[in-house]
Amino acid sequence: MRHTEGVSAVGETTAGPSAAQHAGWTPEARARGAVATVDLDALRSNLARCAEAADGAQVMAVVKADAYGHGLVPCARAALEGGATWLGAALPTEAIALRDAGVGGRVLTWLAVPGAPFAGCLTRDVDVSVSALWALEEVCAAARATGVRARVHLKADTGLSRNGATPDEWPALVSAARVMEAEGLVEVVGLWSHLASADAPTHPSVARQLDVFDEALGLAEAAGLRPEVRHLANSAGTLGVPRSHHDLVRVGIAMYGLSPGADIGTARDLGLRPVMTLRARLASVKRIRAGAGVSYGHEYTASRDTTVGLVPLGYADGIPRAAANAGPILAAGAVRTVAGRVCMDQVVVDLGDDEAEPGDEVVVFGAGGPSADDWAAACGTIGYEIVTRIGPRVPRVPVGVTP
Ligand SMILES: *Cc1c(COP(=O)(O)O)cnc(C)c1O
Repeated sequence: MRHTEGVSAVGETTAGPSAAQHAGWTPEARARGAVATVDLDALRSNLARCAEAADGAQVMAVVKADAYGHGLVPCARAALEGGATWLGAALPTEAIALRDAGVGGRVLTWLAVPGAPFAGCLTRDVDVSVSALWALEEVCAAARATGVRARVHLKADTGLSRNGATPDEWPALVSAARVMEAEGLVEVVGLWSHLASADAPTHPSVARQLDVFDEALGLAEAAGLRPEVRHLANSAGTLGVPRSHHDLVRVGIAMYGLSPGADIGTARDLGLRPVMTLRARLASVKRIRAGAGVSYGHEYTASRDTTVGLVPLGYADGIPRAAANAGPILAAGAVRTVAGRVCMDQVVVDLGDDEAEPGDEVVVFGAGGPSADDWAAACGTIGYEIVTRIGPRVPRVPVGVTP
């Protein structure tokens, strides 16, 4: 590959979706030598796909962890434009950051510790999840202090054993919430839970959790609670377990264009498009001799005279060390495998006898290259971890922004 004007020349000569894919080389990104473009058109299209599967249920776009590494605020805005009516954040601070950036829609936060900023959530019109009596007490104290009635989603542990009230604890939590409703401090607007194995729809725990959830709903409603929304489904539930849909589905990974699990289907099967595309520019291109060891520990050896390219991304940027001799990278017109160990800042690719120059573009994953799911398979992890761990040294550049 040869570029007179550098990599941006590629985008200018290519029409259609690949033009968007080649956009994003801002001056900062060019100078850094790496960019993660975030395709907001793809995000909206993936959300539409999930909404179709949800068959009438509302959609919550889950934007925790900086929108799975894609950038909180641009993704949240695009999700609302794309038809989501709710946004989901794990931490209260994430929910607060959304509001402080001026983002609307309903917002739910679900992972609070004692002393969490419940008052800050209430004054910003953020719904809070309550899994235990201590949290209900803190939320009521925040309601008294702020004069704002709290909108609460009671969480049932139906079998994940993570957050949520167990079936043993549920009746007491429900009746305490009912009392606080009568006092005007809270309004229970949601009843919810989370599935352990929605990515394996025939796993017996799925049906069991659905049944336990139905019992929890029945008990809460018998106690007088009248929730606006019942919700249980993540992406896998949305796409693969219709009985989990209830009134609202919580979609994360599928919105970012990755598969929630092999049993549900590949991203392509599911009609999902990758939102993040990670690209870099070669920092070095040179010939090495047959027998030369490559990268720390010489876990790769050139089998013949060959050209190696240096990619300025390493484990500090979220490239897993487990990608040694395994991670796929599109470089000089073909998909190569990371040669040798992943360093803190860089990895080497073996280009054979193909031509390349310093500054040439490589695609680590995303549109036009290997997928983050391919990286996950190569590294023994899941696509979620691949995208979420891409670090702050990589500029995020939204593309497909609506004017
Ligand atoms: C992260 C999360 C989701 C979204 O899960 P995906 O598998 O990414 O769709 C939904 N609900 C809760 C409670 C979560 O923590």
